[in-house]
Parts: sequence; C-alpha cells; structure tokens
Amino acid sequence: MKGKFKINKDKIGRLLPEIFESRGYGKEGFNLIKNIGALASSIDLKAFIIGGFVRDVLLYSLLKDKKTFQRYKKAKIFLKNELDLDVIVLGSAHRLTSLLSKDHPGIFKIERIKLHKDFGTSSVVFSVNGKPLKIDFASSRTESYRSHGALPSVNINGSTLSEDVVRRDFTINTIALSLNPEDLFSLKDTAGGISDILDKKISILHDLSFNDDPTRIFRAVRFEQRLGFRISGKTLSVMKEALNGNSMDGVSGKRIVSEFDHFFNENSPWIFFERLKKLGALKSVHQCLSFEGINKEAFKNISMNSIRYSFGKKGSQKLFIIFMAALLCSLPPALFDDVSKRLGLDSRVKGRIYLINREISDLEGLSMNFVKNMKGSEIYKILKKFSDEGLIYYVLREKWDKINKGIYLREGILDYLAKIRFVKPSLTGDDLKKAGITEGKLCGQVLGELKLLKIDGMLRTKTDELSYVLQNYGNKE
Ligand code: ATP
Repeated sequence: MKGKFKINKDKIGRLLPEIFESRGYGKEGFNLIKNIGALASSIDLKAFIIGGFVRDVLLYSLLKDKKTFQRYKKAKIFLKNELDLDVIVLGSAHRLTSLLSKDHPGIFKIERIKLHKDFGTSSVVFSVNGKPLKIDFASSRTESYRSHGALPSVNINGSTLSEDVVRRDFTINTIALSLNPEDLFSLKDTAGGISDILDKKISILHDLSFNDDPTRIFRAVRFEQRLGFRISGKTLSVMKEALNGNSMDGVSGKRIVSEFDHFFNENSPWIFFERLKKLGALKSVHQCLSFEGINKEAFKNISMNSIRYSFGKKGSQKLFIIFMAALLCSLPPALFDDVSKRLGLDSRVKGRIYLINREISDLEGLSMNFVKNMKGSEIYKILKKFSDEGLIYYVLREKWDKINKGIYLREGILDYLAKIRFVKPSLTGDDLKKAGITEGKLCGQVLGELKLLKIDGMLRTKTDELSYVLQNYGNKE
C-alpha cells in the first residue's frame, strides 16, 4: 500500500484549487492561502496549515486515485459545507493576523477577527467568493496538563513544528502543509501521520494522551468511525487504561456534551454511540448512561430518518435536543436528573427534553383521532399545541418505512411540519381595520378563521379573503 501512494507538492498544488472550487470558494480560496504564506514570508515567519484539513486533503487524493479509491471509499471527508482551517505559525501568530487585517484590505476581505492574547491565537473569518472561510491562527507552542481533563497551560515559547505537534490528538492530525512561497505546499510529517493514514490507523502521540485530555477518547471514535479507520492496538490499550482509571471524572459535562454534539452532526450518529458503548466510554461518563433497548432504537431511527427530513430554522439546535432526548428517554425521573447534572444540562435543555417525553405520550393517545385524507384545518387544530421537537421526535423515532397503526398521525404530522403550520392569511390586522373590524378580539378570531380556510384551500387569494370578510362580518360592528 505504502509503495503505491505518491504525494508531492505539485500534486497538492493541483488538488487544492479543485477542493476550494468544489466547496464554492472559487479561485479566491486557493489564492487566499497562498497570500497568507507570502505575507508570512515577508515578515520572516513560517506558516503551515495543519490538522483536519491536511488530513482530508490527503484522503481526497487517495479517493481520487483509481488504485486507492476502494480502500478509502467509506471515508466521509469535508463533512461541513464551510471549510475550517488551522494555521500554525512558527513565531507570533498575532503579528501575522494584525498585518493581514490592517495593511492589506484589498487582498484579504475579513468579516470578523478575534484575538486571544493569553493563548497567542486569533480566529479570522474571511469572506471568500462571498462565503465565510474560518481560519484559526496559533503560534507554535507546547502545552502541559496540571490535572486530568482540565484545560492545559500554554507555553508560547517559539517551539519547533515537531515540538508543537506533541500536544495534538492523533498522528493523522499532525501533518503540516507549508504555505511559504519558498516551500509552497511541501508536507512536514514529523510524527508519522502519512504512514498512519496509509495504514488507516488512529494513533495517539504519547502514552499520557488520554489522561491529559480524556475527550480525545471521543475524538478517536469520531475519526475512526467517520473515516473507516481503526484505533491502533496500542492506542486502544492506553485508552482502556485511562477509562479504567476513571479519567473521565475530571472532564466537565459541558465538554462531554460538546463532543456528543459533534457526533450528532456526523452521518449516522448511532454508529458512533454504538462504538462508545462497546468501549465503555458512555458508562465512564455516568454509570446509567446506556445505549440499548428503547433509547438505542429511537436514537438509531432518528439517525437514519433525519437525513430525509429538513429541520428548517435553528435545525442544529432542534437536532441536538432530539438526540439528547433519545439518549436519555429510558431513564426514570430521578436518574434523568442525575445524568443531566453530570452532563451539565441547563434547565432550558432539561425542560425541552421533559416536554418531548410528555408530548410523545400525548401524541400516542391521539393516533385514533387521525384518519385517511383528514382536512388540514383539523390536523392544525390538534397539533398546534405541540412543540416542533416533540412532533419531529415522534415521526423520526420509528422505522420510517414500517407501516403501523399510527400511520395517519405520522402523515398528519409530516404535513403539518412541512406545510400546514406555515400557512398565513394574506390579510393583516390593518386590512381588517380598513374593512371595519376594529375590535382586537374579533380581529384575532377572523384571522384564525381565514387561516383555517386557507389551509383547506377554500380561500386562495387576498381578494377571496376580503370578500369572505365583507360577506360574513361586513355589518357586524
Ligand atoms: P473536523 O474534521 O471534525 O473539523 P478537525 O481535525 O479539524 O476535525 P478540530 O476539532 O477542528 O479537528 O481541531 C483542529 C485540530 O486541533 C485537530 O486536527 C487537532 O490537531 C487539534 N485538536 C483539537 N482538539 C484537540 C484535543 N482535544 N487534543 C489535542 N489536539 C486537538
């Protein structure tokens, strides 16, 4: 395998424009990274893209190659629509980003810039071809951990690339791509990352890695399952030791939930939780956090069905609540409170999960009220009191293609979520006033009536609505 794969800077130089084009950044994306390298060079700094983007570029080249395509075809790369790059600067990242923002307004279109003085990092959102492209700049550093699971102390000490990479999670995320013109697109692989990509292996950089930061256990699973790789034998045994040593106890609920949220945004999130369960990582968070029985069934079906469902506005928040509800749905109330406390869920999130549980049982009781070809207005009257998440959870939690006794309720919910709830009368309160309906309560009642008639297709245009109002309420005030 290793002998067959050749990558060099010319090949990367050919692939990168293609990658930026395919993500909607046009030629500008490619030019942006070259300009960053030229600017770094002009002030004697060295800049490299490092981490996930470089890993995915290498995988992209393996997927493009007929000889290697079969071996990597399961890898899901560049999952997000917007690219997210990490640049490491040998020297001061702030010097580079201040220059980017101040002296070159014509070259770099910047939407937002945030400097973190203590950490020597800056986060810049560029506008590239009208699309945001976020680049995090960091000065090379070493990090040390005072206690397991806590955030590290940072030493920005002008470290070299090979010293800097030791703080990273896995070898596959340590490959650096030079941006300086004199060395453009050459790869610096100081920790054997390319070899591990070719072997499809997730390996940590040192034996204390999971103790230093146990959230890397979740990250290992994330990359393993997403890329179709496997966690190496050595890494697996170090992971098990960390789990047996209760290292997860030192990690805050917030950090754990943020890792869960990453899984929710992957393709097929359930596969990741299945793996976490097998490794004992869920139990290490809380003894009662399980992934079996009804919560696994619900979670799995939501994972599979959600691809076919559009969540609309605030979709990722809704998805988060729905997956959390599925994870916790089988817990009795006292344990639910205990697990929520461990996960640091605030009362708003807890309240929304409670509500889903209550609404699910209310909806189950309603399935007899739903019949074939039911009028939209009837569906609206019944479902308007439910939350979006409760309704979405209800329709997604069962096998999508399994016909069961609640089929008409499910059809009604889908129709409600996709269309019915968005129907609004064309007339406004002001229009009604002009038509002589001045009393507030009556005005609300008429608008409600118009909405129901419009849902059922009885009123199509604004003129239809106005004639209806004049006919039925013309002389009533
Ligand atoms: P994705 O493809 O999901 O965006 P990524 O590899 O880009 O993942 P990020 O979470 O964006 O990962 O982090 C960027 C880089 O920072 C990683 O590639 C890794 O080198 C490093 N990193 C992030 N989190 C950790 C961590 N907990 N421990 C060590 N290194 C980390």
